[in-house]
Amino acid sequence: MAYDTNNIFAKILRGEIPCKKAYEDEHALAFHDIAPQAPTHVLVIPKGPYVSADDFTARASDAEIAGFMRAVGTVARDLGLVAKGYRILANAGRDAHQEVPHFHVHIFAGKDLGRMIGPVGS
Ligand code: AMP
Repeated sequence: MAYDTNNIFAKILRGEIPCKKAYEDEHALAFHDIAPQAPTHVLVIPKGPYVSADDFTARASDAEIAGFMRAVGTVARDLGLVAKGYRILANAGRDAHQEVPHFHVHIFAGKDLGRMIGPVGS
């Protein structure tokens, strides 16, 4: 899928739409999800134009990939999520119900998040 430069996260990166920023560095921006699904629900996005995890890891530089993953960990530490735990999740494509076509990792925390997605067939 080609990158859509008008997706909502691209607009946030350009400063055209506000966000509640949690962290920013040269490779990544983290902000609170507008419709949180846990007491803490933060999105971490790379600054480059990548659609999904597979696109990001195919086209981004080693520095971008390392910087992005370091940002995910930094956010978890800075928000105090490590002691009780947190979940990271990235949706890609139709079956995963990806809504915004700019690669992002969700960080969920702040309650018992339950197990993963349940057994096949449920
Ligand atoms: P996904 O289904 O993985 O693509 O998730 C997209 C996420 O982006 C959802 O959890 C939305 O609530 C969130 N979202 C959409 N628009 C905004 C926005 N303007 N600011 C913050 N989060 C947003």
